[in-house]
Amino acid sequence: MTHGDETIFALASGKGRAGLSVIRLSGPAVKAALRALAGHVPPPRTAILCTFSAPTGAAGPPLLLDRGLVLFFPHPRSFTGEDVGELHVHGSPAVIDSVFQALSALGLRPAGPGEFTRRAFDHGKMDLTEVEALADLIAAETEEQRAQALRQMHGGLATLYEAWRARVLEALAWVEAQIDFSEEDLPRDMMEHVQETVRALARDMAVHLADGQRGERVRDGVSVVILGPPNVGKSSLLNALARRDVAIVAAQSGTTRDIIEVHLDLGGVAVCVADTAGLRDAASEIEQEGMRRARVRADAADLRIHLTSSDCPRSRARPSAQARPVACAAHDLHVVNKADLMPRAPGNADHFGAGALWISVKTGEGMETFIRALTRAVAALTKGGESVVLTRARHRHAVQDALRALNRFLEAPAQDVGLLAEELRLALRALARLTGRADVEDVLDVIFSEFCIGK
Ligand code: GDP
Repeated sequence: MTHGDETIFALASGKGRAGLSVIRLSGPAVKAALRALAGHVPPPRTAILCTFSAPTGAAGPPLLLDRGLVLFFPHPRSFTGEDVGELHVHGSPAVIDSVFQALSALGLRPAGPGEFTRRAFDHGKMDLTEVEALADLIAAETEEQRAQALRQMHGGLATLYEAWRARVLEALAWVEAQIDFSEEDLPRDMMEHVQETVRALARDMAVHLADGQRGERVRDGVSVVILGPPNVGKSSLLNALARRDVAIVAAQSGTTRDIIEVHLDLGGVAVCVADTAGLRDAASEIEQEGMRRARVRADAADLRIHLTSSDCPRSRARPSAQARPVACAAHDLHVVNKADLMPRAPGNADHFGAGALWISVKTGEGMETFIRALTRAVAALTKGGESVVLTRARHRHAVQDALRALNRFLEAPAQDVGLLAEELRLALRALARLTGRADVEDVLDVIFSEFCIGK
């Protein structure tokens, strides 16, 4: 794809006043623009101090804009694959504005959203998974998000998916050879070999999919829900976690009718904790709606904190006794609040469950242990296993489609070569969707040209 002759510019650094701002240019007119503004084109990838000034035509001397650094990255060794320039100027709105005006006067135009990265993709500098990883890295707020995005940006997923694609292509090439060549020209046991390749690949894909959604959790944040009867201290706990007042805390029951969320960084993992409406029997219509939402949210959450309080009536102390039980997983946390009212002791603690953590949001007792347990539970949901993981639902759907096609291939009759080839093509297309690369037929041509079949 070409972009015509347009040269684009944009502020690459953040908006607002700053010590420095970086203006990036990309396209065929970069050299001319650098010559006009900075007086010359610096040697490749070398920062040179210069005076930026705008040409004013025959009318008078150039208009001084700023002093700063200029860099030039000749194509194709640049971010976009085109000629790229960088102007490091002082970060004031007036300086940036004056440079933008000068660039516009030189015939360059402001870049649209994502246009630099789009050009990088179109020039083959990155595939789709790398583009997504770059977006994730820029948006990363926690250590795990940063590390995962960086792994993916360095081609972790792209390499894996390309390797899979190459294996499917090879299988397809052999199946197509069945159509195009006579049997004696082809190696014996060829179909067994192809089937074994596909079976092994299907196994790899299944393992990749059975990752417990770790990558998506790191990227989107682990979702945690606080559940429990009214008045046990759910909002107070959320406030304590957020260290600020985000939920209404009141002595009256049923104050949290909607869902309130806080975003936390727990041990480098992004976590979204939601406070839900208290689960109880008697409730107004609005409260019932709140409870319905709480249940939906709780069922979809990665982890639930089942909260009760030491003064809670025995009949409601356990999650199973609440109005209607919600999903309860092995890694969920069971917590008893208000330990200050009734300390944990044999006799009064049994009905809360042996594994329950006792805390007092009011006094802070047990809070450190609780946060450690929560951090451990969150880490268990995001760490371990393969280092290269799916990070988006888009990836999951494409891999699932590819796997389904491979499974259909394995079930199809071995003599139905047309059907076998079609299933492999479908798998290839699904994998190509992942990286956004490659027309299947094009790549097949390449593979075939390298093949040496029989004579
Ligand atoms: P929610 O309905 O479950 O969200 O409960 P709230 O967070 O609104 O708290 C209900 C009441 O319990 C409020 O008056 C809180 O101040 C009080 N509370 C919360 N945590 C504690 C605690 O650890 N000890 C005591 N004694 N009271 C608490």
